[in-house]
Amino acid sequence: MLDVKRNDTVLVISGDDKGKRGRVLRIFPERGRVLVEGVNYIWRHVRPSQKNPQGGRVQKESTLAISNVMLVCSECNAGRKVTHSGTGRERVRVCRQCGHVIAAPGR
Ligand SMILES: [Zn+2]
Repeated sequence: MLDVKRNDTVLVISGDDKGKRGRVLRIFPERGRVLVEGVNYIWRHVRPSQKNPQGGRVQKESTLAISNVMLVCSECNAGRKVTHSGTGRERVRVCRQCGHVIAAPGR
């Protein structure tokens, strides 16, 4: 069971972007990786296209390991470990520090 869902705000806890926060754009459960808005930028070479007639280099987010991010508890305003409570649709994530139920992000 992953602690992190799409649209969650997470804190990066290791690597070059340690300390940055961002919104989860995509999750790749089978690869154990996440794509986080504004985090782990890499340069990518692109061919000229309608949107980008020059082509060249653009900066894009790259995935990082899920273990390198932590869910941000809105009560603590910090990256926190969570526990899971309840089952099925009632399943919620609870901050281990303050007991706050971290709402599932909207779609
Ligand atoms: Zn908390």
